[in-house]
Amino acid sequence: MGSGVFGRRPGARALGNALQLDNEKQLLKQYYAGQQMESPNGGFLIRLGIRPQDAGNAIAIFECNVSWIRYEITIPKGTRTERKKVKDALAEDGDLGCPRHGPSVRLSRAGRNLVCRECGVAYAKV
Ligand SMILES: [Zn+2]
Repeated sequence: MGSGVFGRRPGARALGNALQLDNEKQLLKQYYAGQQMESPNGGFLIRLGIRPQDAGNAIAIFECNVSWIRYEITIPKGTRTERKKVKDALAEDGDLGCPRHGPSVRLSRAGRNLVCRECGVAYAKV
């Protein structure tokens, strides 16, 4: 895709070669719930990938299935409450589901971290 494709559109701010969405919070809620996320261009946002960041947050890249415009959404790093929940579950040998996605999405090991593959966020160290 060449440059200059990404014009300024309502509901989105240009950033690098992906756009940011103004309703990130609402979309994240839908994302955690496994619901379809509506694109500002009509159609839906299809997840292309998750890039975990050094700071503990992650960048999720989505593409609109109608306009092929790419968007990125910052997935915030684990809060103290979320990390404690996972740590407690780990100590009790309990259910290690993602605190945001729920028990159906299990945390998996990536190096010393316990990471949700859907959020790209590390919630605990092992
Ligand atoms: Zn998750």
